[in-house]
Amino acid sequence: MPRPIQAIIHLSALAHNLQAAKRSAAGSQVYAVVKANAYGHGIERVYDAFKQADGFALLDIAEAERLRALGWQGDILLLEGIFSMQDLADCQRLQLSFSIHSACQIEWLRQYQHSHPEAQFNIFVKMNSGMNRLGFTPEAYRSAWTELQQLRIVRSLTHMMHFSDADGERFGECGIQYQYTLFKQIIQDFPAPATVSNSAAILRHSAELQSDIVRSGIMLYGSSPDYPAHSIQDWQLQPAMSLRTEIIAVQQLQAGQSVGYGSSFVADRPMRIGIAACGYADGYQRTSPTGTPALVNGQRTQLIGRVSMDMLAVDLSAVPDADIGAEVVLWGKSSCGAALPVDEVARASGTVGYELMCAVTQRVQFAIDRAEFSAPSQLKSLEET
Ligand SMILES: *Cc1c(COP(=O)(O)O)cnc(C)c1O
Repeated sequence: MPRPIQAIIHLSALAHNLQAAKRSAAGSQVYAVVKANAYGHGIERVYDAFKQADGFALLDIAEAERLRALGWQGDILLLEGIFSMQDLADCQRLQLSFSIHSACQIEWLRQYQHSHPEAQFNIFVKMNSGMNRLGFTPEAYRSAWTELQQLRIVRSLTHMMHFSDADGERFGECGIQYQYTLFKQIIQDFPAPATVSNSAAILRHSAELQSDIVRSGIMLYGSSPDYPAHSIQDWQLQPAMSLRTEIIAVQQLQAGQSVGYGSSFVADRPMRIGIAACGYADGYQRTSPTGTPALVNGQRTQLIGRVSMDMLAVDLSAVPDADIGAEVVLWGKSSCGAALPVDEVARASGTVGYELMCAVTQRVQFAIDRAEFSAPSQLKSLEET
């Protein structure tokens, strides 16, 4: 028998969350962001649930190729753009859109146009409106836009920017204002569609923003972009990944006895604990401390002691009937329907839901839960992988 740890991908939750994005961003095209192998869920596994998206966005050409292999014929946007001139050949072959954020990339386009007079691309011009990662500064943006407009290789141009603080405030002000005001001011001279919103902006600011295309990522996977200000219940999102395992041993501790490496947890009373088959080699954070929530048989309890490579310990005081074989949910839904949002585990672990979901490792078995999911056209059904 395989080790009991499994990551279960709930297709009905993914589809539900996509509908939530469409409702929040009514009137916009909704692109599903599936970078990092669909935030750790697996592009092939989520694809059926996201077919109703208007496009996909990701970073790696290899991942774009996988979407094309699944039969996706709509738009695919490379969020970080091209990394070399050679990438343009793949973009042409796979019909990919991409961002242009540097003068160097414009130069590659110019050179490629010279040798491929038939090539044409839909391009997203990225403004650095304040985050200072990628993009043209507002001053440089105008000339970059004009230059691109004049290239024969450019089929269409879309304005693009990315928010640093759409999930909250910045320096005591609403977090989107400092960037959006600047962005609007610059793009008004160049009428064209724009894409600005990520999940946080979709959920919190759709009324104030004009984003012809929105780029929804984390919300699709059932994590709240602005937790703890809002939970997934507040946003009416559903957990899309459940990381489940089982109790494989039970120990009875006496007061004064410790658990695990470093003896970081010492019992102050007799207590029953369970050892669960999940550790940092499965992608669970080694730094998740005593007190991090988990579900055993659907009941809420907590980690105790240090997470090791293949195991972690949970307190069974609140679940006296739990024995070897009892279900442990590290995040997501239990088989009886109890939920532990990934955001609560992330919070206790000093990180965000994004990181937890992306970190699940190769050795974890994945399964697809199709319950209550009906694909619009179910051409082929995915096997468990
Ligand atoms: C990852 C990413 C997104 C999606 O962000 P979420 O917070 O996951 O919704 C949108 N735009 C860009 C440029 C990104 O890199």
